[in-house]
Amino acid sequence: MKYALVTGGSRGIGSSVCIELAQLGYPVIINYKSNENAALQTKQKVESLGGKAEIMKFDVSNVKEVDDALMQWQEKNPDDYIAVLVNNAGIREDTMMMWMQDAQWENIIGIHLNGFFYVTRRLLKDMLTKRFGRIINIVSLSGIKGLPGQTNYSAAKAGVIGATKALAQEIGKRGITVNAIAPGYIATEMTKDLDEKTLKEMIPVNRFGTAEEVAYLVSFLASDKAAYITGEVISINGGIYT
Ligand code: NDP
Repeated sequence: MKYALVTGGSRGIGSSVCIELAQLGYPVIINYKSNENAALQTKQKVESLGGKAEIMKFDVSNVKEVDDALMQWQEKNPDDYIAVLVNNAGIREDTMMMWMQDAQWENIIGIHLNGFFYVTRRLLKDMLTKRFGRIINIVSLSGIKGLPGQTNYSAAKAGVIGATKALAQEIGKRGITVNAIAPGYIATEMTKDLDEKTLKEMIPVNRFGTAEEVAYLVSFLASDKAAYITGEVISINGGIYT
């Protein structure tokens, strides 16, 4: 059976993505790093809508945790494989570059860019052998245009955009698509410290987006209908010009 794995699937955008992918018919693996309760709540939501879900703890920036968790899953599920991967886990650690500490740079590159690499590399072999896969990377407006105070985050997301385009060309022949979704301002815990009233003035649609709106796009890219879209970066930002 084909499964979907959503990193950072426990909360925010990832949680909505789990719900949508389950509606598409995929049993979903909900990854989280520390908040098990949130992961269990998402599992419950998926199940209450008739879907199948399980939770899986690992830190995407820790190669050993990633490899161990995915190897254990494979041993338990020898006839199954992860056909849809949504690289979504992420955090922000904003500060002006002049004051940025090594740890703030390394942490953000570690989670977004190394995390993408560790998880995706581990799952590629099965997708290549089965000749089907969907890899969807959640990047950001910040990785396209750059945002002040986010040199670490913009660099990490831009790195994932480059990798998306390169990998799409490597594996397109095997029925695997690789795309990036670049959200603008989405109302989740990650953005709860931002002032929506002021920021929405520069958003043509005049509001923050919702996690569900991002999840609908993920679901489309994961579906058979999107088989001819690969190597793309699709913005979902209420009309902010990038
Ligand atoms: P949230 O803060 O709401 O959720 C973050 C999720 O990532 C949680 O499930 C969290 O799990 C998980 N996570 C964090 N660090 C790790 C880690 N090291 N390993 C595994 N899981 C981890 O964030 P959003 O839903 O807002 O963001 C999701 C993605 O979308 C991120 O990649 C973000 O950069 C991107 N994005 C968000 C935008 C927005 O406006 N919200 C805009 C553009 C991009 P736990 O609680 O267990 O730590």
